[in-house]
Amino acid sequence: MENCLFCKFAKEHPAKVYEDELFYIIKDIEPKAPLHYLAIPKRHYKYITEMTNEDIQNFGKIVNKVGEISINILHLDGGYRLVINQGDNAGQTVPHLHIHILGGKKMDWNPA
Ligand code: 5GP
Ligand code: ZN
Repeated sequence: MENCLFCKFAKEHPAKVYEDELFYIIKDIEPKAPLHYLAIPKRHYKYITEMTNEDIQNFGKIVNKVGEISINILHLDGGYRLVINQGDNAGQTVPHLHIHILGGKKMDWNPA
């Protein structure tokens, strides 16, 4: 999609941590934890409710791949948290669905 930051990054981000045909991973520019990545599907959609059946299948593959590479590529030994912000109340700022991957320390559980 035109004018979408994460569609643009799919083509030209210089520092992808991981990439395959379905998604790519970059480091968040404003990290909220010692390790903070974004897993970004290459297909543009903003909300979970916009997913096609193919997106739903691919999402499972994406999450599974994040788990597979969590230690050897993402260095998330000790665990990690996945977050998807949806809409204003959650503070979604980029209108292209993405999964925050947070780790690198023992985290509190107080998203409010
Ligand atoms: P959201 O607020 O939509 O859940 O998440 C968007 C995330 O994208 C934020 O955590 C923000 O820091 C990150 N972000 C925004 N612009 C850029 C950028 O230009 N580069 C990178 N690496 N991350 C960005
Ligand atoms: Zn997009």
